[in-house]
Amino acid sequence: MKYVGAHVSASGGVENAPLNAMAIGAKAFALFTKNQRQWLAKPLTEKSIETFKSNLTKVGIAPEHVLPHDSYLINLGHPEAEPLQKSRNAFLDEMQRCEQLGLTLINFHPGSHLKKISEQASLDKVAESINMTLEQTSNVIAVIENTAGQGTNLGYSFEHLAHIIDKVENKNRIGVCLDTCHSFTAGYDLRTTEACDKTFAEFERIVGFKYLRGMHLNDSKPDLGSRVDRHESLGKGKIGLECFRYIMNDARFDDIPMVLETVNPDIWPEEIALLYKIIET
Ligand SMILES: [Zn+2]
Ligand SMILES: [Zn+2]
Repeated sequence: MKYVGAHVSASGGVENAPLNAMAIGAKAFALFTKNQRQWLAKPLTEKSIETFKSNLTKVGIAPEHVLPHDSYLINLGHPEAEPLQKSRNAFLDEMQRCEQLGLTLINFHPGSHLKKISEQASLDKVAESINMTLEQTSNVIAVIENTAGQGTNLGYSFEHLAHIIDKVENKNRIGVCLDTCHSFTAGYDLRTTEACDKTFAEFERIVGFKYLRGMHLNDSKPDLGSRVDRHESLGKGKIGLECFRYIMNDARFDDIPMVLETVNPDIWPEEIALLYKIIET
């Protein structure tokens, strides 16, 4: 089965997110469990947690099809001790919020080396950050997202993802989320069936589909290999629809949350319907 949705708003409280997902015909969704541009957030209230859980049941979406995204401020590969610690504290808080909500995944960008240390040294810090956080929590899976490689962002190559996974001690609680726009602008072609075959074979060889815990389905405004992160609506960018037809008809992408982060939320219902329509029976 395919579980498609979008990154929906949690404004007014996390408990509204499942209802926002239902309103667009989603079978999966992503959300921020706190303001993604601030370090500190009030703890979730008991009422908010209970209402979130009952709304999730009401809309018929399973907790494992919810892919919460952490704050953009967090840098788990930060070269300096103090900001690194601040990031680790914030990441732990994010993971604990997911646990409180009964969710099993947390999606995050690996981090940035800020030109102060090597990519390898920064990736090692990311893995160490994950190990520390997993030790202090009990069941949420840390889901690393691949990136476009803008600026000094890590995670633009499958090798980066593999490097982190290799150094994470608990392999049952580490996974990855592939963003189609990020993959494409990082240099992995997805425009044709042949290109998808090649890119995903490389993913299997270097990382492995057993670690795939989620997808972000986005077309791309910039070109292949541009290392720029700008999403576009499906079929309107440089990737084109063939990639999404490929993914929707490939069992390797079954049973994981697949989330739109495309630029026009007004057409998410149509995009979700389109993705289900291109499944060949
Ligand atoms: Zn993404
Ligand atoms: Zn992006």
